[in-house]
Amino acid sequence: MDELAPTGRLGVYLHVPFCLRRCPYCDFTVAVMRTVPEADFVEAMLRELEQRRDAFAGRRLTTIYFGGGTPSLLSAASLGRLLEAVKAAAPARTPDLEVTLEVNPESVLDGWAEQVASLGFTRVSLGAQSLDDQVLRTLGRNHTAADVRRAVERLHGAGIRHLSVDLIYGAPGATLAGFLEEVSTVATWPEIDHLSAYELTFEPRTAFTVAKERGRLAAWDEDLLASCFDEVELRLAAAGFERYEISNFARAGGMSRHNSSYWVGDDYVGLGPGAHSLRVNAASATVERRANERSTRRYLSDERASFSTEELSSETHLRELLMLACRRVAPLSLAELRGRSSQVDAVLGPHLDAWVERGLCRVVEGHVHFTPEARRLADSLAAELF
Ligand code: SF4
Repeated sequence: MDELAPTGRLGVYLHVPFCLRRCPYCDFTVAVMRTVPEADFVEAMLRELEQRRDAFAGRRLTTIYFGGGTPSLLSAASLGRLLEAVKAAAPARTPDLEVTLEVNPESVLDGWAEQVASLGFTRVSLGAQSLDDQVLRTLGRNHTAADVRRAVERLHGAGIRHLSVDLIYGAPGATLAGFLEEVSTVATWPEIDHLSAYELTFEPRTAFTVAKERGRLAAWDEDLLASCFDEVELRLAAAGFERYEISNFARAGGMSRHNSSYWVGDDYVGLGPGAHSLRVNAASATVERRANERSTRRYLSDERASFSTEELSSETHLRELLMLACRRVAPLSLAELRGRSSQVDAVLGPHLDAWVERGLCRVVEGHVHFTPEARRLADSLAAELF
């Protein structure tokens, strides 16, 4: 009989969908509002949390992540209420709980960082995107490069231990040299221990995609994007940052445990409009994926948050874990996976044999080490798995 054991760890993601305006490249679940219905939203999320208590059973809470949208549009009091409610819902949690808040630089007003730090947030991910004011305007952002630097200083000064900065490459009007200069600048900031460098993607129906299709916007070509992918790693390595996943770099001790938990197959509970969840069901050897209804209006008004679910077989789940492992530098532990499922060798063996043959990975003492080339080809390797 098939079997699939959960890892026993659990992450919680709270999606705060509000934004003051929509950035032209964004296809996230976002509610553009001038005035955030904060009290109603907090009540709706507490209601959903209460209805989802079963998802916490038998798991140890390891990470909490407030993402969006713009979670920093909520007051410190509301963030604190939600944070305490999630902690209280967990029957067990690690002593070194990682609690992350996504923050837009313009939200970090005088005194705000201290309030947030006092609530127990251990990590802030700052949506900087660029240090070039012209590029920031093109990206539709509400902040300047000076706001980014000020936010980093304030958050660090308030005692936030782990700080991450997000940057986007491939923006219209931006240059490779300019972007690399920004990366080098951020890497000199002693306050940060994590940097994410994302390639701008043109998602269907966004304003950027429409403009590109009409020939009004020039995207970077593939060669430029590929050079950027490699050059960023070189610049950051020289400054003590290691690439640990395609888009993510960290100094020692700075890796995002929340993101890593997705990649190793931990259960997660997603709360809020459009949030996704995953739960391993050992009894049926399946994985349940849940997607919440995307409409914020309905999320606020419905007594029970509506959602859809999909059931994955253990074979599909194992293939997904291999797909995610191709994107990471840390080796995939086959021993650990074999402890969770007896199908590891039957399902993953043929793919691993083929990839070893092609020089894309090595298997050493039960650990699969992927090459940089495998990370570059991650999307096409994923297509081979499904
Ligand atoms: S702030 Fe973030 S979530 Fe909001 S529209 Fe811009 S990119 Fe999307």
